[in-house]
Amino acid sequence: MKLLLYSWRWRKAAGPKAAHWEIFSSVNPGVALPAQGSFVSVLSVFISPTSRGSVQITTSDPFNAPTINPNFLSTTFDTFALREAVKAVKRFMPASAWANRVIAPWGALGTAATDAQVEAYARASAEAIFHPVGTPSMSPFGAACGVVDPDLKVKGVSNLRIVDASDLPFAPDAHTQGPVYLVAERAATLIVS
Ligand SMILES: Cc1cc2nc3c(=O)[nH]c(=O)nc-3n(C[C@H](O)[C@H](O)[C@H](O)COP(=O)(O)OP(=O)(O)OC[C@H]3O[C@@H](n4cnc5c(N)ncnc54)[C@H](O)[C@@H]3O)c2cc1C
Repeated sequence: MKLLLYSWRWRKAAGPKAAHWEIFSSVNPGVALPAQGSFVSVLSVFISPTSRGSVQITTSDPFNAPTINPNFLSTTFDTFALREAVKAVKRFMPASAWANRVIAPWGALGTAATDAQVEAYARASAEAIFHPVGTPSMSPFGAACGVVDPDLKVKGVSNLRIVDASDLPFAPDAHTQGPVYLVAERAATLIVS
């Protein structure tokens, strides 16, 4: 459970042996396609973001929706990494293995040639794909930041634990279901011991 010992303040990009992004084939292209033609959709998924969003209450009524700001692509690294992930897809799809099947890129991605154009394309079309974490994120015992302690108890509140993906101090350079199982197993151990 090394992951649980890190504070989000120490977040660094994935190391040289960890993936920063992945190539993901999807039936959902995320953009409106022409009515005619056949298309294959390949997404660039950036899985090691360093940007920090925020969730803030807006009133004292717990039934009022909070203000959520994902703050995507707000660090230099994130912008660089997503841009390079998009460029990797642009190199991947014209490969000889796709010859006579993939004829040409379509839309704004196809015409984005320079780094600035690819970055603008990525920024304009980026969206989250179902793996948010860290809303009441974990931090060390005694830390002024964060919401839960490493024993998953809410700071300043008695007898209340949070056990789900929201504990993770940062996106774990992976899809989140496995890390959620780790949190759940850790919680079970803490509760029965
Ligand atoms: C479409 C989609 C595809 C995904 N694909 C993958 C994947 O391929 N691989 C991967 O690793 N991760 C994937 N994920 C992410 C993964 O599913 C989540 O990170 C993980 O399920 C989060 O676990 P959780 O316990 O935090 O929340 P959840 O799994 O959302 O569990 C929350 C539970 O709380 C319940 N609940 C909500 N409100 C209340 C209430 N008021 N009272 C009582 N119960 C309540 C809900 O019904 C739900 O059962 C995907 C997510 C989505 C949405």
